[in-house]
Amino acid sequence: MSYDPYIVGLTGGIGSGKSTIAQRFRELGVEVVDADQASRKVVEPGMPALNIIADRFGAEMIKNDGTLNRAAMRQLIFSQPLEKTWLENLLHPLIAEWIIDRLQRAESAYVMLESPLLLETEQHQLVNTLLLVDLPESLQLSRTAERDGDPKQQIQSIIDSQMARDDKLRRADYVFDNSLALDTVTPRIAMLHETFFHLALESLHDD
Ligand code: ADP
Repeated sequence: MSYDPYIVGLTGGIGSGKSTIAQRFRELGVEVVDADQASRKVVEPGMPALNIIADRFGAEMIKNDGTLNRAAMRQLIFSQPLEKTWLENLLHPLIAEWIIDRLQRAESAYVMLESPLLLETEQHQLVNTLLLVDLPESLQLSRTAERDGDPKQQIQSIIDSQMARDDKLRRADYVFDNSLALDTVTPRIAMLHETFFHLALESLHDD
């Protein structure tokens, strides 16, 4: 028997706590498909996209070990918006294909799609409901700096390139306030899990 899985989108800006929250859902048996993993997979050695990138931008985009030179790629698209669009047009459909395949194969009562760019890309069209991990910008900055050790200016430019917090809040069905201490996370996740579980069951009856 095959049926469409009930899909919960999980998004939030850099350092908002997506990975932390996704891990708690995994511990409750929910399968989580990770869009970041998808974007790495489609450019792994041997994948067609890698050759297409090398044909366009030169062999220096591929490192000696056969993997994508991400730093060179980032630098190139940062200064050339048209090339950024070209790259997105190449990769986004491949990423979507990988994600859809994983979502379809999930066997938990509902499946979660974790993506930092869920709302910025067409990925949001895949989900039945949307959970936003929300955090004030100052905490996003300090937690990311503590996690990665990157300069705050660099983190700020990533925050600025992502959708504004208010716009995300407007589009979310559920909001997880992650400014509260970690020891408050577990019971709140349990409540959300129950909600999503019931939504998934109801969607079965709707079919
Ligand atoms: P994202 O995946 O959205 O980039 P992470 O889950 O990696 O964010 O969280 C960013 C950092 O904040 C991590 O170091 C994580 O341990 C920490 N963190 C997450 N949630 C909380 C919380 N409620 N309180 C304190 N620190 C948190």
